[in-house]
Amino acid sequence: MVSEGVPQDDRQTLLHGGDEQEAFGHAAVPPIYQTAPFAYDTFEAYAEAERRDQEQYVYWRGTNPTVELAERKLAELAGGEACKCFSSGMAAITAALLSSLAAGDHVVAVGQVYESTAALLKHLAKWGVSHTVTAGCSIREIEQALQEHTKVIYMESPCSMTFRLTDVPEVVRLARSRGLRTLIDNTWATPLFQKPLEHGVDLVIEAASKYLGGHNDLLAGAVIGSQADLKKMFSKEFELFGAALAPFEAWLLSRGLRTLPLRMKGHQEGGLAVARALEGHPLIARVNHPGLPSHPDYELGTRVLKGYSGVFSIELKDARFERVAEVINRMKRFEIAPSWGGYQSQVVSPNYGYNLKALEQERLSPGLIRLAVGLEPPEELIADLEEALR
Ligand SMILES: *Cc1c(COP(=O)(O)O)cnc(C)c1O
Repeated sequence: MVSEGVPQDDRQTLLHGGDEQEAFGHAAVPPIYQTAPFAYDTFEAYAEAERRDQEQYVYWRGTNPTVELAERKLAELAGGEACKCFSSGMAAITAALLSSLAAGDHVVAVGQVYESTAALLKHLAKWGVSHTVTAGCSIREIEQALQEHTKVIYMESPCSMTFRLTDVPEVVRLARSRGLRTLIDNTWATPLFQKPLEHGVDLVIEAASKYLGGHNDLLAGAVIGSQADLKKMFSKEFELFGAALAPFEAWLLSRGLRTLPLRMKGHQEGGLAVARALEGHPLIARVNHPGLPSHPDYELGTRVLKGYSGVFSIELKDARFERVAEVINRMKRFEIAPSWGGYQSQVVSPNYGYNLKALEQERLSPGLIRLAVGLEPPEELIADLEEALR
């Protein structure tokens, strides 16, 4: 059930999880271990560390205490046994997919997925991995897309741009009955507002560049799941591909995580206030926010989500590029920028004026504008949008 607050134990996890002061020489704030190698007293000790390099500090491309702190916080928050952090969300998605797939396998991707993820799935054809993207997010469409060699069902819920939801527990039931693995990109909701591991999803991916970092000043990704899955991924797709998170970025990430509950509460309130204010506006055909009762998946959302973030979209009735650009240009409180998840409000449209065919293929309205509501007073954002639409 969606609540306006944030569970108390999640707050505790994010504030103090993993940073026992004894472990960091009684530093009040855990320091940054800005070191690539770790040195040993004897060669025997070093040889032993190499043998157990997943538990010992040997080299930054494997483990580093500052990175581990962020990993412990995220694993605990998501309810997972283990977490590995990567240098970007895409690095995490690539590792999660490749650790689950082999040549000849097929992936079912549910609804619209993040643009670069869609491109990655196409690129995987080079290694003999095929995929199908379903038109919608319903269990019937997913079931119909399954093939003999399907290995993975890949979800992103809510999905990009239209914010339609997938019934995650139902997809897990289907996947288990067919022996398939389930992966989910949980960036929109964060592990605070959606905990897919509790429903039995195998791997949860977070683009920590968004809300988890929270200040638009870092790039990071995370994969959370079972000890066995993460251990397997560690020695192959993590260590060999080499997309390790840097200690400074990990330190910024832990700093962001400590205020995640407060920030998400602000994004939730602001996003809902702005969405409610825009609904029914004479120039807007539709507001795609899963927290509005008019959203086709509102009821499902009350079951699978524990809260709403601040990213949603509107669809202008006049969907011409010139009109979309005019409305965006008139917004004074929204930065024109890709990405989201920071404190400032941002706006973008998938309509670039030269890609109408692609939009049609992706079943996106050319009048769609995506809004990421930051932490500014919602009344000011609403006034700004009303002025821009006039
Ligand atoms: C941004 C984003 C990613 C990719 O994260 P990067 O850190 O930019 O690589 C993946 N999925 C979603 C839903 C995102 O918004």
